[in-house]
Amino acid sequence: MDKSCDMGKPAPIPEEEALRLLRAAARPIEAMERLPLAQSYGRILAETLMAPVDVPPADNSAMDGYAVHASDCTEANTRLWVAQRIPAGKTGAKLGPRTAARIFTGAPIPEGADAVVMQEYCRREGDDVIISTPVPPGSNVRRRGEDIAHGGKLLDQGTRLQPQHVGLAASVGFNNIPVYRRLRVAVFFSGDELTPPGQPLAPGKIYNSNRYALTGLLQRLGCEIIDLGDAPDTIFATREILAYAKTVADVIISSGGVSVGEEDHVPAAVKALGHLELWNIAIKPGKPLAFGHIGEIPFIGLPGNPVSLFITFCLYARPFLLMSQGLPYQTPRFMWAQADFERPRAHKRREYLRARLVSADEQRDTVQLYPHQGSGILSSLAWAEGLACIPEDSCIARGDMVRYLPLETLLD
Ligand code: AMP
Ligand code: MG
Repeated sequence: MDKSCDMGKPAPIPEEEALRLLRAAARPIEAMERLPLAQSYGRILAETLMAPVDVPPADNSAMDGYAVHASDCTEANTRLWVAQRIPAGKTGAKLGPRTAARIFTGAPIPEGADAVVMQEYCRREGDDVIISTPVPPGSNVRRRGEDIAHGGKLLDQGTRLQPQHVGLAASVGFNNIPVYRRLRVAVFFSGDELTPPGQPLAPGKIYNSNRYALTGLLQRLGCEIIDLGDAPDTIFATREILAYAKTVADVIISSGGVSVGEEDHVPAAVKALGHLELWNIAIKPGKPLAFGHIGEIPFIGLPGNPVSLFITFCLYARPFLLMSQGLPYQTPRFMWAQADFERPRAHKRREYLRARLVSADEQRDTVQLYPHQGSGILSSLAWAEGLACIPEDSCIARGDMVRYLPLETLLD
């Protein structure tokens, strides 16, 4: 039986529609765990954190110098007796009238003092200091709580913890932090032609490159990967692998076998176990993308062509996975730059072309294209630093402004 007649090719849907459907379907993970700070990098904060203390905890000196009463130093060349010495980590005594305290950066301002004068404006004479300039009140004092106020919001739930966020959490004394459990993503690769790298290639076979591209993409997002290996091109094998995937994963992602050819068993297998929609998204490259559920578990079927897999992952699977991880929905951040190419013929589908930004002169970057844009040409992606997005039904003349999506912004 010819299944391609059976299933039929779905009508194209606009990219925005696919994104809307994915966004509506994403269920943020709820399971959380507490991790020591040093293990929390890259994880997603599961609760909004409030500050349990002030930072800094006390008024302190921003400079090495002398703490004074500003009212003692309204004129140039004031002479004061240096009554005490306060290094960081120590507290001083109350500052008496017409005295100064030798003070160092980070040391608490002694009671009674209201300014610090930089040592560059001071000259020592025995136990006295002579201050060359008048000192305004408040100068060089870092105020208690000026960075973070006790009880104020420190970090929002849904923040992906970068080093600066973990540093901020440490600055208020947290030693562990509530994060969502890593999203478990089961992956498998459909195709009788697939051979693992490292083995000789028999006639008719190709190496499974998608395994390594997809694993890297998922690792960059911080997912836990459950690699279920290759699925032979039979409905039975594909069903078995899906039935197992459902028991171990939060999300299932497959590579290949989602077209409407008779060797494409993924859609039928998903339908047999759950629910499936096949979308023919009106972009190029990116043949049908499958989206469905097996029980409660979402399923995404990516196309097998290596460039299509990479691009559909970045554009559709990625936002879905980010939301499933507990992050807010994000649209990719693109920029505009002048085309250093021409597309004299308009296409019905929106195109994502492998591109690079090249400096045309000191003021201007232009977008260059890889010469071969086929959906199987993985070297185009290895060369590219971004994707140029060409709107549907549009021609591009050299010098036109085009949308450019840096690959870096699509990977984390
Ligand atoms: P399919 O989506 O299964 O029809 O595959 C489309 C094209 O992608 C075919 O040329 C496949 O050989 C190729 N392909 C499928 N899976 C992979 C893979 N894991 N690695 C590299 N190429 C693949
Ligand atoms: Mg196939």
